[in-house]
Amino acid sequence: MKHRCWFQCIDPDCGEKYEIFEVIYRCRKCDELLEVVHDEARLARTGPESWKRLFDDRIRSNKWPYGSGVWCRKEMVLPQLSDESTVSMYEGGSNLFWAERFGREIGLPDLWVKQCGNSHTGSFKDLGMTVLVSAVKEMRSHGEDIPAVACASTGDTSAALAAYCAAADIPAVVLLPRNKVSLAQLVQPISNGAIVLSLDTDFDGCMETVQELTKRENIYLANSMNSLRIEGQKTVGMEIVQQFDWQVPDTIVIPGGNLGNVSALGKGFLLMEKLGIIDRHPRIVVAQAEHANPLYLAYKKGFKEFEAVTAKPTLASAIQIGNPVSYKKAVRILQHFEGIVEQASEQELADASAHADRTGMFNCPHTGVALAVLMKLVKRGEIKPDERVVVISTAHGLKFADQKARYHQNAIEGVTGTFANEPIELPNDVARVQETLRRAIGEKQDASSTAAEQ
Ligand SMILES: *Cc1c(COP(=O)(O)O)cnc(C)c1O
Ligand SMILES: [Zn+2]
Repeated sequence: MKHRCWFQCIDPDCGEKYEIFEVIYRCRKCDELLEVVHDEARLARTGPESWKRLFDDRIRSNKWPYGSGVWCRKEMVLPQLSDESTVSMYEGGSNLFWAERFGREIGLPDLWVKQCGNSHTGSFKDLGMTVLVSAVKEMRSHGEDIPAVACASTGDTSAALAAYCAAADIPAVVLLPRNKVSLAQLVQPISNGAIVLSLDTDFDGCMETVQELTKRENIYLANSMNSLRIEGQKTVGMEIVQQFDWQVPDTIVIPGGNLGNVSALGKGFLLMEKLGIIDRHPRIVVAQAEHANPLYLAYKKGFKEFEAVTAKPTLASAIQIGNPVSYKKAVRILQHFEGIVEQASEQELADASAHADRTGMFNCPHTGVALAVLMKLVKRGEIKPDERVVVISTAHGLKFADQKARYHQNAIEGVTGTFANEPIELPNDVARVQETLRRAIGEKQDASSTAAEQ
């Protein structure tokens, strides 16, 4: 008997099942979200030690596509996929950065940052998109009529979709909210030859349109309500545990918008628990921007009710989402993983990001949200100084060079550049340069000795 998986309705009272290579996003019986369910009895026939050995043997190896952090776990991701249909760019395997200096400065010496932005298109979205685009390639090879793949995006999903589709020679359509994504994010799908639609709305508006569009046309929907993406993204927790030589961290902090990623993170841990690969699980903290905080508001009411909000503009543009599609999945995960939800203001997220940059990172604003929330929880004693904590860094800071430059020029409205560091403009005169440097280096030395005394 081979490994297999299928789509299943997330409502336990329904539980309707569908083939994995069927074009379907929601349950036809009850309209609920679907999730990918694996034949766990079959997976359990391999013992935990054998799984670990297999993953250790494959990851970062040159055995294409098994060197990928996603495909080294193929049996637990999409076992029915043929090698010929796999569209992989060696995703995963990103650095788990020991944030030694930043951790020390905030009183958390065992702090790690998972650099998911060190990836082909610069965000964790590659982890999910390799699975989705591979499944489309497989379905097209079976003769399924899928003329194009489409997504609504706050920038990073479209970049990943465009790149993977371009590699597989499948047309991609991306719907972006006009003037709400960074230049770097906009130029990625343009360069990869996607059909780029810039709509006069926000992300939630684009999401409604693409859902309606993919109902009317055969165009395939690539947003994270399509649970194939969750299968790829769930490998991030597996990879973190593997990078700690199969030890489980105490707490993981993750920024949340549409809430697909936190659902995926939890799903990976649940599977590892069931298979005995780990014997405990981390607590999960979701970090939201105060300007887009529907999960935080629901958390404050014990998840008894959910109300969508109109998300206000935030520097953390990839999480400017007021009506998260994976809300229910995320709540289930948070209830299982002693979840905490906390929020960060624009000032807090910008400063946390810049502060961490000072210690050698180069953060995107969403990572800034997670770091700001982390600092709050440490200060309140909800995260203890001896805990091993991992922050999920979701995108590369270079995608947000514009706004980071504006922070350092003190030019962001409503935000003070507490850590601003502007270039010093001088004539090309050795004496002036020498004198200026003496002063500047002296100031740095004073700053670090003051910090050491504290
Ligand atoms: C997509 C994205 C998020 C949010 O992930 P969700 O699954 O929507 O919660 C956070 N940060 C970045 C950089 C992203 O691209
Ligand atoms: Zn159903």
